[in-house]
Amino acid sequence: MSGCLTIVGLGPGDARFWTRETADALQAADALYGYGPYLDRVPERDGQARHPSDNRVEGARAKAALSQAADGQRVAMVSGGDPGVFAMAAAVCGEIETGPEAWRTLDLRVVPGITAMLAVAARVGAPLGHDFCVMSLSDNLKPWDLIERRLDAAATAGFVIALYNPISKARPWQLGEAFARLARHLDAKTPVVFGRAVGRDDEAVTITTLDKASNTEADMATLVIVGSPETRLILRDGREPLVYTPRVAAERSHDRARPAHPPPSRRSRSRAGPGVAA
Ligand code: SAH
Repeated sequence: MSGCLTIVGLGPGDARFWTRETADALQAADALYGYGPYLDRVPERDGQARHPSDNRVEGARAKAALSQAADGQRVAMVSGGDPGVFAMAAAVCGEIETGPEAWRTLDLRVVPGITAMLAVAARVGAPLGHDFCVMSLSDNLKPWDLIERRLDAAATAGFVIALYNPISKARPWQLGEAFARLARHLDAKTPVVFGRAVGRDDEAVTITTLDKASNTEADMATLVIVGSPETRLILRDGREPLVYTPRVAAERSHDRARPAHPPPSRRSRSRAGPGVAA
């Protein structure tokens, strides 16, 4: 029998967040790989081997899973949330790119999951109702000044910003710096959402504003959403406010910068095809 590797998204919390495809992929596997606490979310099954590993050994974990799949086993690799969002799908692709030729012909599938950003957004209303962007605040794999430039660009472009990996023991100050950076461009009353451990027993969601947002409210299991200039709160008697970004955006002065190159006219685009400059 030929082997396969399926990279499976478990969603943010327990099995309520699994898709049918996730459940089927986990059931079909001979062996499971993943970060230990994520593997612990999957009920044990007779005859299925489990290979938990530390969260700092993504490359080694990906290689081991690829090798076992190449040996003919049905292997599943689990990821929290979605495997394509700051997670194992990219780690596996990285090993395929540089690894043995045989890994390129493996039957590889990625099964999507509910990413933390969507789970947190759903708890508070509709903060992602209009254009948004997603960043990891970790400067382990990219320089901090690049993160700052991207924060500036995102805030001045009017995006809602979702921040993964906001803080850790080794990165205690970055979130505070990010809030200070964003405050250069955004109103002090811009809504900020902290969604912690969403979908788990210790879930906690708080809504605040940029001037009050503090890095002490976040830990490694927190996803932060910073609103755009259009994001607002809808206050409700006896209920938590809704965080809402309307689907219509007004043009603001900072949006009006002229493009460096005028876009091709309609006519030349239809003749030359997409992507060809007039
Ligand atoms: N692949 C994952 C993200 C991995 S990066 C996904 O799609 O969700 C790890 C970061 O994800 C954490 O630092 C935190 O910012 C966020 N995160 C993961 N699970 C979460 C949860 N249940 N609640 C809130 N944020 C979570």
